[in-house]
Amino acid sequence: MKFTKTLFIPIRAIPFMESSIIFHGISEKEGIVHLLVKGYKRPKSKIRGEIDILTVSEVLFYPKPTRDIHTVKEAKMQETFPEIYRDYNTMKKCLEIGNIVLKTTTKEIAKSVFSLYRGLLKEVNRRKGECENSLYYGTLAKLLHSGGVFPKLSQCVRCGSHAVKYISLRAGGPLCEKCVRDEDDKQNYSVRMARELFFLLSRDFSEISRFRASSETFELIMNMVKLHLSGEFEDEVEKDSV
Ligand SMILES: [Zn+2]
Repeated sequence: MKFTKTLFIPIRAIPFMESSIIFHGISEKEGIVHLLVKGYKRPKSKIRGEIDILTVSEVLFYPKPTRDIHTVKEAKMQETFPEIYRDYNTMKKCLEIGNIVLKTTTKEIAKSVFSLYRGLLKEVNRRKGECENSLYYGTLAKLLHSGGVFPKLSQCVRCGSHAVKYISLRAGGPLCEKCVRDEDDKQNYSVRMARELFFLLSRDFSEISRFRASSETFELIMNMVKLHLSGEFEDEVEKDSV
C-alpha cells in the first residue's frame, strides 16, 4: 500500500473511543483530511506531543480511497505557534479562518491554501498574538482568491468602464451607474475600496497587518465569504480577475 507523507495543520480535534482523537485539518498534499491517532491520550503514546491543534506536523498515513478517516502511523512536530494562545480572541479568529479553510479547500488548491494558513499562523505568532482586522480580513480575501472566486476589482462587469459606483456580488463584481439594474445585494463601491482590496490580495502578511483598510472593505470581504460558503458564488465570478 502506498503511504502519504505530508505536512498537516490540525484545526479541530474530535475525541474517539476512550483514548483516541480524530484530527480534522488541512494537509499540503491531500487537502482536507480526517486523521485518527490511536491511543493519543495515553501517556505513553509516541505521537502525543508530535501533533496538535494549530501547529504544523509531518504526518505519515495510508490514504484509503474508500474511507474518510485515515490512521496516522507516524508524526513529527515541525513548527509551533505558542503566541497564538496568549489571547482568546486571537485563537478564536485563527480557528474561524480554519473552519472556512475546512469548508472550502479542494485538493487542487490544497497547496496554496496550506501555505496561506501557515503564513497566517506564523505572522500572528511573530506579532506576539496580535491578529488585527486587516490581517484577518486580508487572509480571508487571499483564501477567496486562491479558490478562484474573487470578483474583478476595478472595472464594471457589464461594460468594462472604470467609473464604478456599486458592487453586486451576485452580478459578479463592480457596476457603473449606467449598468446597475435592480440588484438587491448591491452596495456602494469606490476606487478606494478597490485599492484596499488590491493591497490585501497582493501584499504579504506582515505588510497587510500594518495596513488600515476601511470597514466597508472588510464588510465586503465578509459578504464574499458568506456567499462562497452558501455555494452561490462559484459560477458567477470570473477566475483570475486580479
Ligand atoms: Zn457599466
